[in-house]
Amino acid sequence: VVRAPGRVNLIGEHTDYNDGFVLPAAIDLEIRIAYRPTEERRVVLTLVGSAETATIDLDEIAPRRGAWTDYVAGTARAMADAGLPVRGFRGVLASTVPVGSGLSSSAALELAAVWALAGPSGPAADPVTVARLAQRAENEYVGVQCGLMDQFASANGVRGAAILLDCRSLDHRPVPLPADLALVVAHTGTPRTLGSSEYNARRADCDRAVAAISVHEPTVRSLRDVDRAMLARCRASLEPVVFRRAEHVVNENARVLETESALLAGDYKAIGRLFAASHASLRDLFEVSSPELDALVDIAVKTTGVVASRMTGAGFGGCTVSLVRPDAVEPLRARIERDYPVRTGRAPRVWVVRPVEGAGFVSS
Ligand code: ADP
Ligand code: MG
Repeated sequence: VVRAPGRVNLIGEHTDYNDGFVLPAAIDLEIRIAYRPTEERRVVLTLVGSAETATIDLDEIAPRRGAWTDYVAGTARAMADAGLPVRGFRGVLASTVPVGSGLSSSAALELAAVWALAGPSGPAADPVTVARLAQRAENEYVGVQCGLMDQFASANGVRGAAILLDCRSLDHRPVPLPADLALVVAHTGTPRTLGSSEYNARRADCDRAVAAISVHEPTVRSLRDVDRAMLARCRASLEPVVFRRAEHVVNENARVLETESALLAGDYKAIGRLFAASHASLRDLFEVSSPELDALVDIAVKTTGVVASRMTGAGFGGCTVSLVRPDAVEPLRARIERDYPVRTGRAPRVWVVRPVEGAGFVSS
């Protein structure tokens, strides 16, 4: 049996594809595949939830179908392209990662597929290489222009810690979460209908910012290279909307590093401030929040014992992440379940999650 976790990003939103910093944790909502390797050159995989069965021919991978099987087929192709052995299997897949909710069920599916396809000795590559080939599967085969964060977190998770990742150098280090804080994920119950088109539009805005800034600052290759002073100097040559997008990314990168320091120092006031600033920036400058996400954050920050709360993931629905004192977890859950439906007409879901190791075999 192989497992691959979903992830929650603590802070650093829309920074991964700008060569910036992110702080995700792999979490104990995960996809598992129970499988038996076969000598056949194909995968026969059944979803436990729907009993749907799909067959993927490993020697002749068909073009994408616009279905969940694309994530498996694309992963098999990316592994083969990278020279990794790919084996046939028969298996069943079960998941506790909510789909399309910003907790990265797609990366969990890709990483579970890598481990099942690799066979009993596991993938013959380090976790960062595995994450990159899973990202390539999603970019090139599935056709979603995601950054590396999701696959990286699912592949490299560390028990009890978030991971600070520099998306340019791929340097990374675990950042232990304080033992006296619980990690709470709350789901808005809203589908991310605008998700992919708006995501691509934000990426294009960031590219336009880089193009305009690099006219004045030739060393700038991405928003990672831009600091606050440089951005202020270039303001006149940026359309207001493009300036706002860039302002979010530049400040968000700084907030990730500040959050690492605050977590290590146990400075909970600072963490609360940083999460609040990130949420406000995603709402007002990057414009990817929603009334439902804003309502969940508002309910959380007004609950005693909640240290920090913000939207997480790409936005337009999905989830919030909160750091909460243990004795405030049940009061927070109760308030969300009481107030959120009244304010939004939606049904929330709340999970207390724990940071776990990255993808691999389930030890028996
Ligand atoms: P997220 O990664 O935030 O959950 P995405 O839109 O990136 O959202 O990925 C969701 C897609 O991943 C689904 O539409 C489906 O194709 C696939 N997927 C994820 N988990 C499962 C699952 N348990 N069963 C079938 N397909 C899944
Ligand atoms: Mg995804």
